[in-house]
Amino acid sequence: MSTIAAVSTPDATGGIAVIRISGDDAFKIAEKVFVPVGNKIISQMNGYTCCYGIAYDDGERLDDCILTVFRKPHSYTGEDVAEISCHGGIYVTKRILRAILKNGADNAQPGEFTKRAYLNGKLDLTQAEAVMDIISAKGERELRIAENLREGASFRKIKKCSDNLIRILGSLSAWADYPEEDIPEVNPVNLCRELRDVRNDLSSLIEHYDSGRIIREGVSAVIIGKPNVGKSTLFNCLSGCQRSIVTNIPGTTRDVVEESVRIGDIVLRLSDTAGIRQTSDVIEEIGVNIAEKLIYSSELVIAVFDGSSPLTQEDMELLEKINHKNTVAVINKNDMGILPQIPEELSKFIPHIVFLSAMENNGIDTLRIAIEDIFHINENTFSAPSVANERQKKCIDSALICVESTISALENGELLDAVNVLIDEAEQYLLSLTGEKVTDAVVDEVFSRFCVGK
Ligand code: GDP
Repeated sequence: MSTIAAVSTPDATGGIAVIRISGDDAFKIAEKVFVPVGNKIISQMNGYTCCYGIAYDDGERLDDCILTVFRKPHSYTGEDVAEISCHGGIYVTKRILRAILKNGADNAQPGEFTKRAYLNGKLDLTQAEAVMDIISAKGERELRIAENLREGASFRKIKKCSDNLIRILGSLSAWADYPEEDIPEVNPVNLCRELRDVRNDLSSLIEHYDSGRIIREGVSAVIIGKPNVGKSTLFNCLSGCQRSIVTNIPGTTRDVVEESVRIGDIVLRLSDTAGIRQTSDVIEEIGVNIAEKLIYSSELVIAVFDGSSPLTQEDMELLEKINHKNTVAVINKNDMGILPQIPEELSKFIPHIVFLSAMENNGIDTLRIAIEDIFHINENTFSAPSVANERQKKCIDSALICVESTISALENGELLDAVNVLIDEAEQYLLSLTGEKVTDAVVDEVFSRFCVGK
């Protein structure tokens, strides 16, 4: 395999930049570009040691640097790796990389260092994907989920299911292929029990998938309500800045204002909309139509009501529109006192009701708790082994279909020969999930999502 190189730090000015070289010729190439101060010889340095020196390009002095040596297989990629830490200027970093490429290294493709780690058995495919999640984690909880994945808890659970299926396949074929040997007959009842255990383990891996996805990707949410209930005040309160214009004149927000806001551990891609009401103002009407469309396309509806004045026909029409959506009813203006019939009436339509005062920034935490409840976000979301992305989820879903079909086939008295094929198919999906048996196209697809230098 060729020796590859790339800048592993961001393409921006910083205190330090790191250029990574990985492959059989890593030290030979490093020696052509980097001259240690003193009498150190890079190719003779021990792993996990570093030295100070100067980087050159064709005799031209580029920068004072530190070079670190990692010897195979004890490196990130499993290959010989040299990392040059230089001053973090974009130009100087590119010059050093160019000198390395001139001396025989190839430009690393996105994710190629991690791909090599996978190909060299340093990581399984789920752990490699977790590296990407760690890089893109934007919050504490997101990082915890990714760390969990990289630590291999999911892999161990998948491996356990896979080993069980292999054992079952082994006993089925031993019994079928060597009838003359005294191999005990496979008992369909025991087989069903073992398969149910596999099914339960696989189901638990996708149980928290949706909540994990919500932590990673956020939720599209829309604030709706009739005019003047405090939608824009709530939007501004959540986004922490004055994005929407707040007045006591109904119909002020005509366009849709969007912002990403974090509430607890969840990022809401939040839209503030025009108040939904009948209007003769053409521009306002366009806004109202957009708001209605957003109700259908958003994963979460935050429906705002004014708790200080009775519900109106417009409120009731709104309740019809949000039927079947994940909705939190926000009863706003609780600083003015809440009419008791409002929560009474709303609870007939919406199970999650919170009281707050957007103007006084009071009660926002109850909104967070309601949203976490709707999306089943709890401690298990962050600690239980789970799958990380659609690719992994599809593999588990397909394996589950095969295992469930096997169980019902056995319950219907089908021959063991017939179920063998289904169990084998389930096993293939699990092997493809961990990357033990996967096509090059899938591997390429996984690593194409990485950045250069990782
Ligand atoms: P929107 O039309 O639904 O977006 O409503 P706005 O956010 O523009 O607010 C309409 C009026 O209600 C403004 O005068 C706000 O100051 C007022 N308002 C909003 N939230 C509250 C609240 O929690 N308490 C009180 N007392 N007034 C509020």
